[in-house]
Amino acid sequence: MPQEPKRRHSRQRKGKRRASIAIKTYTGVVCSNCGVLNPSHVICKKCGFYQDKQIIIKKEKTKEKNEESS
Ligand SMILES: [Zn+2]
Repeated sequence: MPQEPKRRHSRQRKGKRRASIAIKTYTGVVCSNCGVLNPSHVICKKCGFYQDKQIIIKKEKTKEKNEESS
């Protein structure tokens, strides 16, 4: 027979244990250029800016071609 807990744990004890399991809010830095929330110390994924400087120059996808083909 497997071992069983001798006594049930109280609701308070269960609640205290599960308090740390709760989902934490995502913390990050709002991009100064486009205003998207990014993780700190990371270049903005959307526009490629970091500390008010453009690090990555992204090629803009031409939507006109996609609209014409569809
Ligand atoms: Zn950005």
